Amino acid sequence: MNRHGIRAGWVILIVLLTTACSSGPTTERYRMSRLLMGTFVDITVHAPTRDKARRAANAAVAEIERVEDLTSFHRQSGLARVNKSAGSVQPIPVDRELLELISTSIRMAEKTGGAFDPTVGPLSRLWNFSSDEPYLPKKEEVAALLPLVGPQKIEIDIEEGTVRLVKTGMAVDLGAIAKGYALDRSRAVLEEMGIDSALINAGGDILAMGEKEKGVPWKIGVQDPRQRGGILAIVELSDRVIVTSGDYERFFMKDDTRYHHILDPGTGYPSRGVQSASISAKDGVTADALSTAVFVLGPKKGIELIDSLKDSECLIVDAQGKVHMSERGASVFRLER
Ligand code: ADP
Ligand code: MG
Repeated sequence: MNRHGIRAGWVILIVLLTTACSSGPTTERYRMSRLLMGTFVDITVHAPTRDKARRAANAAVAEIERVEDLTSFHRQSGLARVNKSAGSVQPIPVDRELLELISTSIRMAEKTGGAFDPTVGPLSRLWNFSSDEPYLPKKEEVAALLPLVGPQKIEIDIEEGTVRLVKTGMAVDLGAIAKGYALDRSRAVLEEMGIDSALINAGGDILAMGEKEKGVPWKIGVQDPRQRGGILAIVELSDRVIVTSGDYERFFMKDDTRYHHILDPGTGYPSRGVQSASISAKDGVTADALSTAVFVLGPKKGIELIDSLKDSECLIVDAQGKVHMSERGASVFRLER
């Protein structure tokens, strides 16, 4: 296995451009970074005092840790418990919050025609992209797992508060939605603490709360998928989320083919045709699920999906490096090349 192409450390897909503190005289800024949810999370909070900003940033970290404990695919988590029960005859009781997140992910699978699919779990395990040693499976190994994939194989009873994964070997993977959910939860925690200006960058999944300062939106650079550190587009954001799914973050090269961590649930193989898909949306869960879905759908179907929805825009770089945008995408993404 050729492991030289792996760049698991290259997680900052989107670069924070404006780092100088230029908030008003009554505003203090606190900034911290932590390794959470398998990526670097960078938090900037503005508040009247530095102490308040620090406490708020710590509260956001604690909330992200809590979401990780609920949703992690590999560690002991609420979700791991559900996956362990796959194939059981009896449904198992599941924490309300996790139940709702699984239910939302099923809805997103339906909305995206199955391009985003939380039941890719068995395939994620097989390819093992989250480790330092991903695996190139044999065709038969991939084919054998496809019958375990499909959101209709999750039985969920909201009233009873139970879930059943109907086939042994099934596994729910919330990796394509969990960071977006963590951003939404962090926003709620910060709002409760009276914070109205903050920026959280979770490995390229970015929440911009309020403005950077009065009348000045947050300014974000969208990473060029083939030029490390290069900026493809600039986005000015306030009270929105921008999320990018790319093939350059977790991948390996073998015989000139790039194998990466975003899988086509229909084939079980890394999805072809797109290098990166960035979504701007109101909330993190929507943006995160859609970025994965649009990546899998490709430019034509991806843009059709985004244009059919309210209030989301996308920027796609296809396999040839050509840029595509949703109908009103140019109002969000300012191209730099
Ligand atoms: P990242 O986690 O790098 O931000 P994504 O949000 O696109 O990127 O999520 C990719 C992760 O989601 C993979 O690591 C895997 O765990 C899971 N996944 C891969 N393909 C799919 C898919 N088609 N639908 C849902 N989840 C997926
Ligand atoms: Mg995603």
